[in-house]
Amino acid sequence: MAYIPYGRHDINDDDIAAVVRVLKSDFLTQGPAVPQFEQGIADYSGAKYAVAVNSATSALHLAYLSIGVTAGDLVWVPPITFVATANAARYCGADIDFVDVDAETSNMSVEALASKLSEAEAHGRLPKLIVVVHMCGTPCDMERISQLARAYGVAIVEDASHAIGSRYQGKLTGSCEYSDIAVFSFHPVKIMTTAEGGLATTNSLELAEKMRLLRSHGISRDATLMESEAHGDWYYEQIELGYNYRMTELQAALGCSQLERLDEFVEKRHQLVDRYFELLQDVPVQLPPRDPDMYSSYHLFVIGLDENQLGDCRGRIFHELRAAGIGVNVHYMPVYLQPYYRRLGFESGYCPAAETYYKQAISIPLFPGLSESDQDFITATLKKKLS
Ligand SMILES: *Cc1c(COP(=O)(O)O)cnc(C)c1O
Repeated sequence: MAYIPYGRHDINDDDIAAVVRVLKSDFLTQGPAVPQFEQGIADYSGAKYAVAVNSATSALHLAYLSIGVTAGDLVWVPPITFVATANAARYCGADIDFVDVDAETSNMSVEALASKLSEAEAHGRLPKLIVVVHMCGTPCDMERISQLARAYGVAIVEDASHAIGSRYQGKLTGSCEYSDIAVFSFHPVKIMTTAEGGLATTNSLELAEKMRLLRSHGISRDATLMESEAHGDWYYEQIELGYNYRMTELQAALGCSQLERLDEFVEKRHQLVDRYFELLQDVPVQLPPRDPDMYSSYHLFVIGLDENQLGDCRGRIFHELRAAGIGVNVHYMPVYLQPYYRRLGFESGYCPAAETYYKQAISIPLFPGLSESDQDFITATLKKKLS
């Protein structure tokens, strides 16, 4: 049997034709496709502005910079995330701290956040920015998190890399109802793809303009931003120290084409998740929580192997499933246990709920093209290995 990956892109003939059209056109970069893609995502998510870049990591970096995160500031992130959420704060020279996750949802714990904020205020070191991650595509409790952040005057970024197409209180993630900026990833394992690519949405013109400026070297042709009279029609000024984080036209055209099938992708993931719930009914694993108030995009399907019930078997099960051709994975080791973050002073035991989650979690395959027969094979193999 062929190897089943844990995630996989879905590319059709329309996607291919869209990219080929760009290859035959006048612009491979800095043409009409990027603004079209940005408008498409803004219209879809309901945010006023969208800024497309070459990865979600770049989008996070620009988001933090535009909020004004700089050396000496403090940024709080959850420990259960991809390292980029934290790394982007380090690019800004900021210090990092971690707010433990909720044992049920593996999203940032609102209770842990509340007590950490009141402690931080007492010690006179509040964060400048809190970044939340919608783990596996299931939205965080944004209303309560934003109430807390507002009460302490702290900015919020949503790392929605897993979560395009998800809804909270009926509103699409990316609408920024409860945040300053939301960031999506279009890496091929995510919900929709541009090969590499990322995008930030916001309702603030000021934040959008700052991100646009920094995306392309800090260079502007906008006369209102210039310090000198234009020397001629060629004239531009570099206002700030920016980067080259631009998305190409090829990527944006692929993004526009994929966006048309986004809802279909998420619906297909829901059908497969419903089937997993049925097939795993009698298997002794913990299934992800299903909150009727949230509509997950189901980027990942993470099951828990309860240590108290099954003993320490995650390593063995992982190994045996891989040997059977099933591309399981683990998302994620707590970020502060990475050597780079340990060197900054973090130690085992810092976020107990995150460490318990990490010991027990396995992501099993979930992507729109996963066949029912592969799903049957995955669940049957898991059942056999656990019996
Ligand atoms: C994938 C991912 C990123 C990074 O996305 P890139 O587009 O690969 O830079 C950041 N945060 C989370 C939570 C992710 O899953």
